[in-house]
Amino acid sequence: MDIKASFEEVKQDLQLEINSAYYDIYIANLEVLKIDKNKLIVYAPTATCKNQLLVLYKFEFTQAVKRHFEGVDEVLVLDPSEKEQYIEEITAKQMELQAREKMNEKNKLNEKYTFDNFVVGKSNQFVYAASLAVAENPGKKFNPLFIYGGVGLGKTHLLHAIGNFISKKNPSARILYVTSEQFTNDYIQALKADKKENANKLFRDKYREVDVLMIDDIQFIANKQSTQEEFFHTFNDLYQLNKQIVITSDQHPRNIQLLEERLRSRFTGGLIQDIQKPDYELRLAILQKMAERENMSVEDEVLSFLAEKIDTDIRELESSLVKVCSLSTLLGKSKATLEDAEEALKDILLSKKEALNIEKIIDMCCDYFKVKKSDLIGKKKSKEIVDPRQITMYVATELLDLPLTTIGEYFGGRDHTTVIHARDKVADNLKKNRALKTDIEDLISMIRSKT
Ligand code: ADP
Ligand code: MG
Repeated sequence: MDIKASFEEVKQDLQLEINSAYYDIYIANLEVLKIDKNKLIVYAPTATCKNQLLVLYKFEFTQAVKRHFEGVDEVLVLDPSEKEQYIEEITAKQMELQAREKMNEKNKLNEKYTFDNFVVGKSNQFVYAASLAVAENPGKKFNPLFIYGGVGLGKTHLLHAIGNFISKKNPSARILYVTSEQFTNDYIQALKADKKENANKLFRDKYREVDVLMIDDIQFIANKQSTQEEFFHTFNDLYQLNKQIVITSDQHPRNIQLLEERLRSRFTGGLIQDIQKPDYELRLAILQKMAERENMSVEDEVLSFLAEKIDTDIRELESSLVKVCSLSTLLGKSKATLEDAEEALKDILLSKKEALNIEKIIDMCCDYFKVKKSDLIGKKKSKEIVDPRQITMYVATELLDLPLTTIGEYFGGRDHTTVIHARDKVADNLKKNRALKTDIEDLISMIRSKT
């Protein structure tokens, strides 16, 4: 509807109804601004004009407006200062709306990642079951769900799968997926904004008015104190409202350095579930599924070759298959062969051999136990040093195919019998001490995930 033309008609009606001297003073100079829901917003040239109009002719004015504006049953008359304020307010609202849309754009769920195309095996069956349970009963079963494991093992995939599942079942559910970097950026943005209150409100609306909040790679907020503080409050608010929270990280919360104690304890309040490296069967199943899904033409032995050789993570597994297929297409072949696979992956396979070595293990164990390298490989006999030293030796024997004499050499030239003693002692303790067992499993999976 052309609101200016309709407003002219309102004026014409009033001209017939009221004394022409008053019409000239109170009505003739009114201007129409806009329709806001059921209200017509009108601008009067002076405050007196506005006040008199409302005292004398509010009824006639409203009636005439109702006749010419469908769906409108109220008038709001603004004087000049009110007009300015009104315009400021609607501009701010508009900007807020745009900012909100922009924020939400980045948080779209990736529809490719679903439970259906998540292949389940020994290394991820528990995390899969926990994620599915959360998706089926958000906020009720495990809250928060904390998933940890190395890169490329499917953490992000599971977050999106949870989100997609919930949103399919309940399209009006408000689901927010963000990386912890995005959370930090939004928070900093809110702090920096000129109109502090408004920006803060925007931030809070985004994070507190959701039904499901998923934060990917939480380890990146570890050294950021004020972001952690804000996250703590966000967490508490949502948690109290029984909203589902899902968090991922590369490590168990107890091993994330510089994570505030109170956050650590919040995370521990729900279910903490690890995701392990895939075994051969799972790797093969994932490759088969991918080849089928993407219509890739490869010989079976290529898939088993890749499954055997690429034992790090699933992302690498997928990219290797793509690489092999691209090479074979480039060579004009209709089906990728073992030869293509060997050729395509020769660099990767070479560098893999030197990926993990004893020095890296020693360095990572020093980090993990917070002991100096000179102490770990030195002569000190105190328990705080001897325990980590023996565990490091044990881990080295588990992860490397090295002669024990060589391992001994890296520990300040110790004899191979010392290594055997350490290895057997730790192995023995593992059987008796469950806490130690989980600790060492975590340590090993961390080392594996970083190489
Ligand atoms: P992370 O977040 O742990 O680093 P991603 O979730 O990004 O790992 O997974 C890396 C890639 O591997 C993605 O393309 C993902 O779809 C795929 N992927 C991971 N786990 C599985 C699985 N169990 N089945 C199928 N694809 C998987
Ligand atoms: Mg990820």
